[in-house]
Amino acid sequence: MKRFVAFLAMTAALTTAAQDKPFAIAIHGGSGTITRTTLSPEREAAYRTVLTEALEAGRKVLAANGTSLDAVVAAVKIMEDSPLFNAGKGAVFTHEGTNEMDASIMDGNGRRAGAVAGVTVVKNPIEAARAVMDKSRHVMMAGKGAELFAKDQGLAIVDPKYFWTQERWDQLQKAKERDRIQLDHDAPRKTSEVAENEKLGAVGAVAEDEKFGTVGAVALDKAGNLAAATSTGGLTNKRFGRVGDSPIVGAGTWAENESVAVSATGTGEMFIRGVAAYDIAARVKYKGASPQQAADDALVTVKSLGGRGGVIVLDRTGHAVFSFTTEGMYRGVAKGEAKPEVLIYR
Ligand code: ASP
Repeated sequence: MKRFVAFLAMTAALTTAAQDKPFAIAIHGGSGTITRTTLSPEREAAYRTVLTEALEAGRKVLAANGTSLDAVVAAVKIMEDSPLFNAGKGAVFTHEGTNEMDASIMDGNGRRAGAVAGVTVVKNPIEAARAVMDKSRHVMMAGKGAELFAKDQGLAIVDPKYFWTQERWDQLQKAKERDRIQLDHDAPRKTSEVAENEKLGAVGAVAEDEKFGTVGAVALDKAGNLAAATSTGGLTNKRFGRVGDSPIVGAGTWAENESVAVSATGTGEMFIRGVAAYDIAARVKYKGASPQQAADDALVTVKSLGGRGGVIVLDRTGHAVFSFTTEGMYRGVAKGEAKPEVLIYR
């Protein structure tokens, strides 16, 4: 009996300890020229609804003592299933009129990682990235091999037609007319600005129509582990075979318990060249920079290379920060049991 009482007391103590532990999730649904004038109230409401659902899905996992990995996958999947975001269902089109998606995930506990690039039939690319991390000996798989692997893992495989949406198709036609490689939520830039960016090494006209509809999530679970995930359809009118930063560990995604978890969105080429996600972690780790300062500074580097975009960053205390060099970024955070907060504009 005495032992039983001691056991009960210990269980209660452990439960209370777990309850006290901080947990948090932050998400983004891309950045770009998102202003009150470019977004109708109906569309804004639709974005807010899906962003809130994604935060709630992730928070539910964390509140029930789930892992940060499960939480980021749950949140990203909701955005992948929505046509509003450039990932999964709403993926943008390549020049050839196909949808090629990239995704990656990273475990802050031991820096395990998984990624897929150029997949065309995997319903939820983030699940394929997770499977590469958990079920293969590899970190990154591309194209047919990645798709066959996802199928072997029992993941949902769909007809490429599943990813066809009128809105994305129209976006492609417009981008083609203007011969632009277009990012997801943006408005045309001034020709002088484009020329300036091209001098800095921006790819062709990428900087002209910047809309980065990529989705991502970073989470901290009650066990103190960080995780990050990013999923995208890439750029409208990109060449087929083009791969951006989103599936590149260190560029579009990073998580390590010793520093921070990061997910990025923006001109992928410049985020790769700036090793943006890892740059943020390194600034925190080696320089002692605050996550906000680290994120802002890393984006200055991306800008100096001719790129634009945004990042979400989460540290081990559950403190989330956002930084972006565009007019707006779809974003949100849910900390512990507090009401989730969704933001769009600057
Ligand atoms: N970073 C993504 C890419 O370059 C685009 C985006 O963020 O929307 O593929």
